[in-house]
Amino acid sequence: MLYYEYSKFLKEKYGTKVYKLPINLPITCPNRDGNISRGGCTFCADVGTGFESLKSTLSVKEQLTKNMDYIRKRYKAEKFIAYFQNYTNTYVELDEFKKYIKDAVIDDIVEISISTRPDCISKEYLDYLEQIRQSYNVEISIELGLQTVNYHTLKKINRGHTLAEYIDAVNIINKYNFEICTHLILNLPWDNLEDIIESAKIISALKIKHVKIHSLYIIKGTVLGDQYLRGDIKLINKEEYIQRVITFLEYLYPDIVIQRLMGRAPKENTLFSNWNTSWWKIRDEIIEKMKINNNYQGRLANYLNGKGVSKFKIQS
Ligand code: SF4
Repeated sequence: MLYYEYSKFLKEKYGTKVYKLPINLPITCPNRDGNISRGGCTFCADVGTGFESLKSTLSVKEQLTKNMDYIRKRYKAEKFIAYFQNYTNTYVELDEFKKYIKDAVIDDIVEISISTRPDCISKEYLDYLEQIRQSYNVEISIELGLQTVNYHTLKKINRGHTLAEYIDAVNIINKYNFEICTHLILNLPWDNLEDIIESAKIISALKIKHVKIHSLYIIKGTVLGDQYLRGDIKLINKEEYIQRVITFLEYLYPDIVIQRLMGRAPKENTLFSNWNTSWWKIRDEIIEKMKINNNYQGRLANYLNGKGVSKFKIQS
């Protein structure tokens, strides 16, 4: 196995084809509205990350059933994950949050996935999700945006939190029966290969279950877009990105599920995305290179569990 693919994991867990259906709520993010910071992460466009979703004026149920009908016909999927994708989905009043979540519990939804920021995790919201899990027999997963473990870079991209808040969120969530998925961008301009290796090590040490790897895309009108147009930032090339992904996978524990290897950018107003190459072509290049060089996920993941004393364990 080159890497632990999400489709394989879903098949093992649910025994059938499962698709994620994005839900777009009429909400915002504390890193945009002034609560934590104003303006948001420097790469985040006005629409947030939900450019592939339906309009937030539609109810949760309407969005789910519309997408379900389409995916059912097109891909013959039978089960679905309700994916609260855009902005910060735990940054709403608790009662409102409960209503949105309850609305997502409909036939054939086997999991509810909630995307949020590490500084927006709190017990009351998780308690309600645990109640839903038990009452309706649906799995719960929490997607945490981290992007990088390099806290200097986190500051440069105006994340509004550091690595500590992420670790805190993971510790809180781990008290529940929920799976965590972490989002990382492997080509942030200020990060180098050492940061990528450290990201893999920290994710492995924290026993995160899923990772979504993104390639940075740059949108017009964002702070990052202005930096890019002024020539203030330097991006790595495609080959270097491919190498970073492979190195990341090699340092990552083999039981961590890889939900994606590449990001996808909106069609409009994109200044830079995936070196003008289709995401799936780059994915194929990654796979090809791994096969040629005998790379695989977890090959270099031997740094935990008391590596410094492992020779004594071997002798005993
Ligand atoms: S935390 Fe997410 S929604 Fe908020 S500004 Fe950053 S990328 Fe955008």
